[in-house]
Amino acid sequence: MIVHSWVVSTVERAVNQDCIFCKIVAGEIPSAKIYDHGGVFAFLDIAPVNKGHALVVPKKHYATLFELPPDIGRELILALKTVGQAVMAATGAEGLNLGMNNFEAAGQLVDHAHFHLIPRHKGDGLTLWTQHAYESVEDMQKLAQAIRSAIG
Ligand code: AMP
Ligand code: ZN
Repeated sequence: MIVHSWVVSTVERAVNQDCIFCKIVAGEIPSAKIYDHGGVFAFLDIAPVNKGHALVVPKKHYATLFELPPDIGRELILALKTVGQAVMAATGAEGLNLGMNNFEAAGQLVDHAHFHLIPRHKGDGLTLWTQHAYESVEDMQKLAQAIRSAIG
């Protein structure tokens, strides 16, 4: 009996009933699937930045980068490389952007951790973000110190 309740609670944590990506992984809603290996799944983004824009997701439901267990890293890197290379080959892209939005403030719309693979072509006109200068070198070093302290 104890084993049974452990299994149920594990499954409940692995799938979020309200999550669109959990439903895609489970095949409950359709997707243009491109990769399905071990704990990782990939499919085409329905609203691509460029054609071939793919989403790589852990099959289990984790909300953000910060909830991903470190031991999924190897499988994820392998999937990102495999899918990324295939997207470039199939689209004739000369470059590839890897991106991840974490939390609403960073533009995360779907609360199931996912990596964007965006094929890039020379002169495609896509600009990622604008950059700024620090007030001073001291300002930059002070922030670096604060981040080092936060790492501990
Ligand atoms: P993010 O803003 O990082 O959370 O990205 C979520 C991405 O999921 C967006 O680029 C959407 O276009 C994409 N998306 C949402 N629903 C679907 C779906 N049903 N199939 C494929 N991609 C989707
Ligand atoms: Zn999910």
